[in-house]
Amino acid sequence: MTPDSTRRELLDLDTRHVWHPYGPMPATVPPLLVEEASGVRLRLADGSELVDGMSSWWAAIHGYRHPALDAALTGQAARMSHVMFGGLTHEPAIRLATTLVDITPEGLEHVFLCDSGSVSVEVALKMCLQYWRSTGRESKRKVLTWRGGYHGDTFHPMSVCDPEGGMHSLWRGVLPEQVFVPAPPAGYDAPVDQSYVDEVVRAVEEHADELAAVVVEPVVQGAGGMRFHNPEYLRVLREVTDRCGVLLVFDEIATGFGRTGALFAAEHAGVTPDVLCLGKALTGGYLTMAATLCTASVADGISRGEVPVLAHGPTFMGNPLSAAVASASVGLLADGTWRSDVSRIERGLRDGLAGATQVPGVVDVRVLGAIGVVQLDHPVDMAAATASLTSRGVWLRPFRDLIYTMPPYVSSDADVALVAEAMVATARVA
Ligand SMILES: *Cc1c(COP(=O)(O)O)cnc(C)c1O
Repeated sequence: MTPDSTRRELLDLDTRHVWHPYGPMPATVPPLLVEEASGVRLRLADGSELVDGMSSWWAAIHGYRHPALDAALTGQAARMSHVMFGGLTHEPAIRLATTLVDITPEGLEHVFLCDSGSVSVEVALKMCLQYWRSTGRESKRKVLTWRGGYHGDTFHPMSVCDPEGGMHSLWRGVLPEQVFVPAPPAGYDAPVDQSYVDEVVRAVEEHADELAAVVVEPVVQGAGGMRFHNPEYLRVLREVTDRCGVLLVFDEIATGFGRTGALFAAEHAGVTPDVLCLGKALTGGYLTMAATLCTASVADGISRGEVPVLAHGPTFMGNPLSAAVASASVGLLADGTWRSDVSRIERGLRDGLAGATQVPGVVDVRVLGAIGVVQLDHPVDMAAATASLTSRGVWLRPFRDLIYTMPPYVSSDADVALVAEAMVATARVA
């Protein structure tokens, strides 16, 4: 426990100097001071504990201070923390890249390691644009996506985020203008809407000459609204992009590594994209690292061009600490127990959130894999929601009209029940 005076001093310095995500400076709502985390529990500086239902923005799938990840990190630190990746290589990056090729959908063969999810989307789009440039189709520079998406906060990824959620009006003239189709009809089990399919197919056909790629989040649109859709729409995208000569990018930064009940969401549809983005849970939530994978055809196209290199190379590319922890995290998934954990959590969330449908102001309750969402008919009152959640010993970070959880896979049935109960109670007061 941190002494009261130190706590006050730290929070005061935080207010004065530290910028937090999506916030003004200084912050209007003070953050909670965390001292330690272990398993699924965050220990706050005042000595209280919260069960984490967020996995630290969906990344800490194995919980905090996992012995295997701690060992991978300290073991690697004892050998080398970092070396530049230009002209040098090392076992942690080689092992990780090889594993990613092995476990991702068939056909993705090459791996570009980057520092964050947004950068992996930048790299994916750069790959697609450069592929067409190299193959003599320079006019193919636009990207088509469906509304309701989220792909990161740097500028090119922002241009394919939902125009409203991504505040495109604020950035008119700055963001490249992309092609948008409506959001996919909601519901994993909802019947396929043929008129929607026709509309998407027509849009790709119409814009094929200017489209470098279609980029989407498969099965779950995350930060754009936590919406699920029928995987059939992904097969439709694969068919039309193949037929029209457009590359297909899946952003699995949120869905990768088991979250939806399949190791990768692309498996729900049985399709391989041309380019795949991974991040978030890649390192089990320990360190920042992301990956962009592509097919041999995309890599060959780029490498046969007039500028036969992918002109990208972050300083901390392939960081050995991150790569070693990522391999350990992916290694923990290898025995398949994550599957029973995710379906156990799915059942726990279905049971625990069922009561939310009766709460006035709740318009939808949905669960898929280890994702549970309660949607309100109004924006969440963040102060009231956070007070309600923390008073019940739960950490969640609602946004817009959504109270949602993406718990670590190691959450016990009791943890899941506690989180679900707190979500239902909070729906009443938020
Ligand atoms: C979080 C996220 C990103 C951005 O990743 P960062 O590591 O925050 O840059 C991109 N796409 C999706 C689908 C995400 O969930």
